[in-house]
Amino acid sequence: SLHNTIQDMKGNIRVFCRVRPPVTSEETERQLCAIFFPNETSLEIRKARESVSVISGKPVDLKQEFSFDKVFPPEANQAEVFEELAQLVQSALDGYHVCVFAYGQTGSGKTYTMQGSSNDFGMIPRTVDLIFKKIEKLSTSDWTYTVSASFLEIYNENIRDLLVPNSTHNYEVHYNEGRGVTVTNLEIVPISSAEELKVVMEEAQKNRAVAATNFNEHSSRSHAITKIHLEGYNAETKAKYSGSINLVDLAGSESARTSGPERLNETKNINKSLSTLGNVMLALHNKDQHIPYRNSKLTFLLQSCLGGNSKTLMLVNISPFEECFLESIHSLRFASKVK
Ligand code: ADP
Ligand code: MG
Repeated sequence: SLHNTIQDMKGNIRVFCRVRPPVTSEETERQLCAIFFPNETSLEIRKARESVSVISGKPVDLKQEFSFDKVFPPEANQAEVFEELAQLVQSALDGYHVCVFAYGQTGSGKTYTMQGSSNDFGMIPRTVDLIFKKIEKLSTSDWTYTVSASFLEIYNENIRDLLVPNSTHNYEVHYNEGRGVTVTNLEIVPISSAEELKVVMEEAQKNRAVAATNFNEHSSRSHAITKIHLEGYNAETKAKYSGSINLVDLAGSESARTSGPERLNETKNINKSLSTLGNVMLALHNKDQHIPYRNSKLTFLLQSCLGGNSKTLMLVNISPFEECFLESIHSLRFASKVK
């Protein structure tokens, strides 16, 4: 029934919070917010918490508490975060459309969480490895899987194919009853191994950086989407599954708000995709009749991953510094609203 469908949609949105540690020597000298993980005992420091309080030193009475499905303290490593994601990879193989968003202000650890560093891989490479490990295991069964991938970015409501730099093509989002949401002209490459996928991914990352005159500012205003398509076919039963996993490194959450008069001509549109994503998630949460998917490129593109036969994970990244207090509160509020 419709009621059940809507119930399912709500149940399929999960929100995690991750607080990053200070990393550079400059950062370790900065004033930190008091961020508390209630119920924490020193013995269990590595165990993920379910609620988090952020307390600003000035004034001292500024305390806010939020709760999430999971909260990862600064000590949590990538493997611990990925443990919670692994079941989503299985869901994608089972025919779900899965979406993992990294949300948070610039510098809060979105890219670190999604891509990671060369000695501690993030969610994207771990997802790729797990997909092929699972497919390999299935190779002795009646199931065969084909994997393909696409890489795009949305900047100022324009889509760019990260595999085709300097393309003159027009990229538009379309909805088609049979094929679902597609992007015109977007390159979708067949992938046969985890290594192959990582090579293509690196190329996409390189293209993304090369095209931008100021990469920091560019990445804080654009959304990068890694999409992995999974088609399962059972030779015995002729059953077919089509799922996907979308890993999204969102624009800095500060870009959804006005950032001063110098940006006046841009602020109207910036960042429409990010603010619409919030509205879509809120509408899903409130079980609204109308979900405003088509109000932005990002939400139109990810329509099938938001509601319906989908699973959504919002990873909210938080910077631990006192000067980030207000942005942290904004992020935590946004995230607890959509849960
Ligand atoms: P964002 O993508 O949100 O702008 P980054 O992922 O670039 O932020 O993170 C900012 C800095 O903090 C980077 O130098 C990154 O390597 C580091 N960092 C972020 N999260 C962690 C973490 N959990 N552990 C160690 N370093 C981190
Ligand atoms: Mg980044």
